[in-house]
Amino acid sequence: MEKLEDSYRAKGLRKQLVKEIMGKGISDPAVIHAIGKVPRHYFFDKIFMEHAYEDKAFPIGEGQTISQPYTVAFQTELTEASPGKKILEVGTGSGYQASILMEMGADVFTIEYNDVLYRKTRMFLPKIGYAPHFFKGDGSRGLPKHAPFDAILVTAGAPVVPTALVAQLVIGGHLVIPIGNMNRQKMVRITRTEENKVVKKEFKYFSFVPLLGKEGWK
Ligand code: SAM
Repeated sequence: MEKLEDSYRAKGLRKQLVKEIMGKGISDPAVIHAIGKVPRHYFFDKIFMEHAYEDKAFPIGEGQTISQPYTVAFQTELTEASPGKKILEVGTGSGYQASILMEMGADVFTIEYNDVLYRKTRMFLPKIGYAPHFFKGDGSRGLPKHAPFDAILVTAGAPVVPTALVAQLVIGGHLVIPIGNMNRQKMVRITRTEENKVVKKEFKYFSFVPLLGKEGWK
């Protein structure tokens, strides 16, 4: 791996990005701090580095994307991540979202369906200082052996709320998941308020790659 450097230029561009997402409504200081800390350009090939601090999703291969920073910040705010919280991320992808959660002190479990991305990110992420618990498999089923979780964050669009994921939340835990069709999805937060009771809150529309698997688009 070529040597990665967090140059003054990259730090400056990151500051600008933080300002941009704050302008779009992100206000949680811990989220803002984490976005300002994780070098997003480390997740890009050197030739695409100029794109790393644009507030845009970007292809990472295998038909997948690294989510837009604003979207990452929006979902992270909804999880209410804080030090020691046990969080499951569905859709490891590049590992950027997992790094943000780790930077906030969470105990991160992350699962990826695509074998190429799983292997690539499991090798890469610890090299830049982030070592979540990596899993390969269908995250629409959650991770029953390691449940319950304080929060579950799904970074791909689902047709319906996967019941397995709700069942793997602690009481008071949040499931943050985009729900909709292939083109656009509404961000939804399901909070498990009692053993058999949930409260659902809906937010605005986003556009994610599809969640595959048993409770996804198959
Ligand atoms: N969180 C990622 C990041 O920070 O780069 C972005 C994820 S990308 C928008 C969505 C990811 O979800 C893809 O890597 C895709 O392969 C993965 N995915 C889709 N269905 C899945 C499933 N059932 N279980 C786990 N991962 C899945």
